[in-house]
Amino acid sequence: MKFARIFFLLIFFLAACQPISAPPTPAPLPSPSPVLPDLLSIPGEALQITPAPHTTPQALLNEAPLRPSFSASAEPSTLWRPPLYEAPLAISPYDHFYFTRPIAVNTVNWPLGDYRYGYYFPGLEVVHIGVDIDAQRGSPVLAAGPGRVIFTGYGLQLGRDDPADPYGQAVMIEHDFGYRGQALYTVYGHMDRVDVIRGQRAETGTQLGLVGNTGATTGPHLHFEVRVGSRYGSFQNPELWVTPPLGMGVLAGRMQEEDDDPITSLDVELIYQPTNKIYPARTYAGRTYSEPFFRENLARGDLPAGNYTLHFVYDSQEYFYPLTIQPGTVNYFTFHATKGFSTGLPTISNISGLTPAP
Ligand SMILES: [Zn+2]
Repeated sequence: MKFARIFFLLIFFLAACQPISAPPTPAPLPSPSPVLPDLLSIPGEALQITPAPHTTPQALLNEAPLRPSFSASAEPSTLWRPPLYEAPLAISPYDHFYFTRPIAVNTVNWPLGDYRYGYYFPGLEVVHIGVDIDAQRGSPVLAAGPGRVIFTGYGLQLGRDDPADPYGQAVMIEHDFGYRGQALYTVYGHMDRVDVIRGQRAETGTQLGLVGNTGATTGPHLHFEVRVGSRYGSFQNPELWVTPPLGMGVLAGRMQEEDDDPITSLDVELIYQPTNKIYPARTYAGRTYSEPFFRENLARGDLPAGNYTLHFVYDSQEYFYPLTIQPGTVNYFTFHATKGFSTGLPTISNISGLTPAP
C-alpha cells in the first residue's frame, strides 16, 4: 500500500514542469481519488440555482476588459486590468476562491495556455498538476494566502536538499484555513531565490522569493499548485481556487463518454459572443484529481462575464452550446455523449458532515 502511494506520488511529481526535450514517459494513469467522493457523488434533489449577484460595478462590466491572449508572449504589464476580486470570495456556496495570485496584478500573472492544470505537456505523456505563470525572471513571488511556511529550498519532490529536484527552489505553505475540514497547501516552484524560512508565518502577499529558472524548466516561470488534504494530498486546479479578475468568471465542466469515462484531452472553444474572441480550453488528460464537488475534467479561468458559445467536435460530431459566464463565480456545465448538455451546479443530496468553508 505504501509502495503504491509512493509510486503514485512519483508520477505526479515528475509531471512538474518537465523540459520539453525530455524523452516521453509512458506514465500509468492513477485512478482519480477525489476528496470525499462518496459523499459528493450521491445523485438526488437538484439544488436551486440562484443567479450569482453581480458584485462588480456595472461600469466595470460594461468596459471591455483588455484581454491577455494566454500565449507565451508576455504583454506589457500596463495592459493588465481590471484588478482581481479580493480573496476570499465565494458567491456560490460551492465556490472557494480563497487565494490571490502569486504574482502581482500589475505583472503577467495568468496561466500559460498550454501549461494549465490537467494538460499533457506537449509531446509528453505526463499530466501537469499545477499552472505555470510566465512571469519575468526576478518578479516577486507572493504568498497566495496566510499560513505557515512548511518547506523551502531544493528537495520538495526528491528530498534531502537535492539540487536536481524538478521543482527547483520551492516553497510550500500550509494555510491557516482549510476546505471542508481538510488542510490546504500552496506550492511555488522554480524560484531563483527564496526569501522565507521554514516555520515562518506568511501573510497574503508576503514575498516568498523571486521567479526563476531552477529545477526542470525550459525558461523562467512560476509553477503554482494547490493541494487539499495533506502535504501530499490531492492536487487541485488552481484556477478554481484563485480569485478571478473583476468582471470575469471561471468555467468548470464535466465531459463524459458514453460509458461515463471522462473525455480526455478534448479541445474546446469558448466563443465570446460580443467579439467572437475564442478562449480555448481542454479537458484533463488521463485521470487526475478533480475538485470534490464539481468533479470537473475541464476548468478555465479569466473569462469575461457574458454569453458564450461552447464549441467542440466529439466523435466526428460538431457541437455548439450556449453558456453564460457570471463574474466572480464558478459557472458549471456537463456534457455526456448520450445524455447531452446540462448547466447549473451539480446535484447532490447530502453534504452534511462537510464543515463550512472559512
Ligand atoms: Zn508547472
